[in-house]
Amino acid sequence: MKREKGELPEPLDAEVRRKVAPVICYPTDSLAPPDLAAYRAAREGWRKVDEVVVPPRDARCFEVPAGCFFRIVSIEGPQVGDLNLWAANDLDERFFSGKTRALQGTHLSTGDRLWSSLPYLRPMATITQDTLDWYGFDEWGGSVHDVIGTRCDPYTHRLLSGHDYHYCCHSNLTRALARHLSRPREEAEPAVHDVLNVFMCTGFTRDTGQYFMKASPVRPGDFLEFFAEIDLLGSLSACPGGDCSTEHSSDAASCHPLLVEVYRPKAPPEGWTSPARNGYSRDHGD
Ligand SMILES: [Zn+2]
Repeated sequence: MKREKGELPEPLDAEVRRKVAPVICYPTDSLAPPDLAAYRAAREGWRKVDEVVVPPRDARCFEVPAGCFFRIVSIEGPQVGDLNLWAANDLDERFFSGKTRALQGTHLSTGDRLWSSLPYLRPMATITQDTLDWYGFDEWGGSVHDVIGTRCDPYTHRLLSGHDYHYCCHSNLTRALARHLSRPREEAEPAVHDVLNVFMCTGFTRDTGQYFMKASPVRPGDFLEFFAEIDLLGSLSACPGGDCSTEHSSDAASCHPLLVEVYRPKAPPEGWTSPARNGYSRDHGD
């Protein structure tokens, strides 16, 4: 929010303190970089083994075995997708948007990993191709595929507008997971988590630090491609915000379906092994 000037005067050395250079919180130099050439080579001769169309203002689940790829494809018009990921055999291990942001940055692209929640903290997926990587950061500091938003949800909508809307991404993801698990919605809902905002163009305003969105640059044919590092259950919501140029949490925006494609390579990428769970002892000291 906008920082109001306080009642007290600035300290005499305020400018000196502001001029201290930043350091990166989590340097990742100690991590082996993904072998993108090996991932690319594994696409040669791959076979599409599944595809799922996600209807507008709704979500669908899909499964991707470790060692396979999946693509989220724009098919009919600019559309933003909200992605959840779980370990296929343990829904407690799920995508950790916050730590992914801390490790990889506010927006993801080719070569970035999607990390799982504590205590697992391992790469769930690696982004192997992004047709929007040309976008970079625009003059407002906006970029695509963020891990800074959470997901549109009916509770925040109720809080801010006083009305109920049932087709926010949170609700879409809840319905899809409940259907997939054949469980009641109230059991599925707690597993829904902060998302990767696929194709969404977002940033923070420079003057007030507020989360902003703008029309997504995605066009039909664009895709974001992932390699499954572990067995994955995914769920993708086609956000009611459409291209998120104006509003979400309503039926006002023009919305389009999204396509998920799953590809099985002839052989896993050379030298690849599925990552183990984090090695911390979980002792937590005395
Ligand atoms: Zn949404």
